[in-house]
This record gives sequence, structure tokens and C-alpha cells, in this order.
Amino acid sequence: MLDSHGKPESIEIRMVAHAGMRGRCSVCQQPAPGYDRLPERRWQFVPLWGIPTWFRYAPRRVQCAEHGVVVEQIPWSDGKRPVTCAMMGFLARWARRLSWRETARTFQTSWESVYRSVDWFVQWGLAHRQLSGIQSLGVDEIHWGHGLRADNFLTVIYQIDAHCRRLLWVGKRRSEKTLRRGLKALGPEVIRGLRFVCSDMWRPYLNVLAAEAGQALHVLDRFHITMHLNQAVDKVRRAEGTRLRAVSKEKAAKLKHLRWPLLRRGSRVRGRARQKLNALLASKLATARAWELKEAFGHFWHYRSVIWAGAFLDYWCERALRSRLEPMKKVARMLRSHEPLLLNWFRAKGEVSTGAVEGLNNKIRVVTRRSYGFRTYDAQEIALYHTLGRLPEPESTHRFC
Ligand SMILES: [Zn+2]
Repeated sequence: MLDSHGKPESIEIRMVAHAGMRGRCSVCQQPAPGYDRLPERRWQFVPLWGIPTWFRYAPRRVQCAEHGVVVEQIPWSDGKRPVTCAMMGFLARWARRLSWRETARTFQTSWESVYRSVDWFVQWGLAHRQLSGIQSLGVDEIHWGHGLRADNFLTVIYQIDAHCRRLLWVGKRRSEKTLRRGLKALGPEVIRGLRFVCSDMWRPYLNVLAAEAGQALHVLDRFHITMHLNQAVDKVRRAEGTRLRAVSKEKAAKLKHLRWPLLRRGSRVRGRARQKLNALLASKLATARAWELKEAFGHFWHYRSVIWAGAFLDYWCERALRSRLEPMKKVARMLRSHEPLLLNWFRAKGEVSTGAVEGLNNKIRVVTRRSYGFRTYDAQEIALYHTLGRLPEPESTHRFC
């Protein structure tokens, strides 16, 4: 079709059924005698030379012995969608490289069309994925959107085996109910086969994992514990900053620009930040003592024996509890109450990679923060499966990217 300037506006390809071949029933795919013909429909195909391209075809109805009068099987189409499978696969693959909005703009289609294509691609992948052989699961919460309401959290379940790390499930909220729903979706066989589960100290997760996957060794994630320690140091610093500013500006300056150096591992702080940190450590400030406690805890992860690690944990908790730093005491109490789970880390050593959860979380953040223009939770969920689910892909005769 040409526009008013004589330029091509669209390419329309009219399809005609082979006269000698009978249509196939769309339910059972068996050839069946013809019944009648429906009006012509069009399906969007992959743009050729940058020109929007359409298939036109009037589908036949066939009379299947088993399924009655039904529309014939159309090889380039799936259900009532006005887009060919080739185009849906094309858009879905590009939507992993570009934002959905850019994908729509580049290929002259709508955001909704990209969304529906990715959805189709993901649903196909979810229906065809293999869940056998999963040994380790990581469970975590992801903060989503603004605010701290229950709806601003997602629960994610990852496979964290060395040979395969992927997102298995994602659901709204972080309650016991959420996690139960997720485990149920994976199925009892997957849960029975688990050897390791890895999570934060979030009580609802601990409860559900103990009840549903009690045979698996439950490991607490190292990076979550480091996070709790860092948050405690930061609380001490902020409280002390406020206190010092009330007394004198000069004293308060000691704590300025130290937020990030304090959160890093000590051996990684260099240059001017290091000088500032050294000056802080030489002072008798509470922040310095909190930081030293946090750094000391790093030794915990280097033990090989469960017994020695346990002894160190007791020693560290006692020190922290005597520190008169309330945030540090709080962490110590939390660690103490989870001691058996913490020590499982040494029982599982080498077998479960707890860094995997952190790595996958970081990738999730990239997806959720990049302005993909996800308008709804459902779109967000589809995008996460699409980028992190390592889903199998529908076969396609045309692979364009
Ligand atoms: Zn049939």
C-alpha cells in the first residue's frame, strides 16, 4: 500500500491455502474436511525494509470428527492475536536489549503490542521449562516502587545451583502466604528434591521454609548479614552526627563524607577516604567503635570448623552487647537468636553459593529501575521472568536478533 506521496506505507501479503491440502483442526491438529470460510483477517509480520508488513488470510473452518466445527490451525498465528508468532518472538527478543518503549518505537508498533508479545513469549517459556534437578533455592524480598507498604515488596525465588542460576518465581508481598504460594507453584517434586535453601532472617520466610522444606539445610545469606551490620553502623553514625552538631560544628565535621567508606570493607578503603577513616578510628567516637565491631565480624566467615565459628560468634555477640551501641546490640541479639542457622553456613560450605542471591538481586534492580515504562505490576513481573528466568524459547523460523 502506498501513501499519498507514493511512498510505501505497508506491505500486505495475501495468503492462499493450498488447494490440495485440507485444513487441520486447531484443537487436535488432525486434517479435517472443510466447512466454510471466515472473513479475511490480518496479522502483523516482522517489518521488511523497515516497512510494516501484514499477512492477510481468510481462515477456513473445518469439521473435525472429534471437535466439531472449529477454525483451522494457522501455522503463523496463536489464538486470536493479531500478530504473527514470528513478530511476537522478534519483539520479545528485542525487548531484552531495548526498553519496551524503544522497541515499540523502533519497529513502529505500540507499547501494548510489545507487552503482549513478551507475555506470549514468557508464558510459552514457563509452560515448557524444566524444573528437574534443582538442589538449591534462594528466597529473598525485593523492594519495589515507593514506600514501605506490604504491596511495595516482592518475594522472589531463585535457583542458585552452580550450573544454573535463574529466577523461578516472583510474587507480590513478602508474607508467609506469598512464599507458600511460590513453593506450591514450583510443585512438591521440586521441594522434595531440595538440599539447600538460602534466605534472610525474615521470620515469615524462616517459618515457611522450615515447615515446607525441612529436609534441606537452611543457610543464612552472608550478604544480608553484612547489610544488617552496615545499617547498624550507619544508624550509629547518624545519631552521633546529630549529637555532635548540637555541640560543635568542628567535631561533627569528623563524620562528614564517611557514609560510604564506613560501609565498605575496611581493606577496600583507600586514598583520602582512608585518611579520614584513620582519623575517625583514632578518635573515641561511637561510630569508630561500631565500625570496628562490623569489621571484626568479617572474621566469622573465614572459619572452617563449625565449633570455632560458634565460639567466635559467642565472643563477638558478647562484645557487641557490652558496646553500649544500641544498633549493634540489636544485631548481636538477632544473630544470637539465629545461631544454628548461621552456623549452617559452615556445614554447607563450598556446596551452596550465597553470593548468587546477591548477584541475582542486583540484576533485578537493574530491570526494575531502568525506565522500561512498566505500567503495571503484571508487566513488571513478565519483564523479570523474561530477563532473568532463562526460559526456553519457542522455535521460530526467523531469528532476527
Ligand atoms: Zn480435532
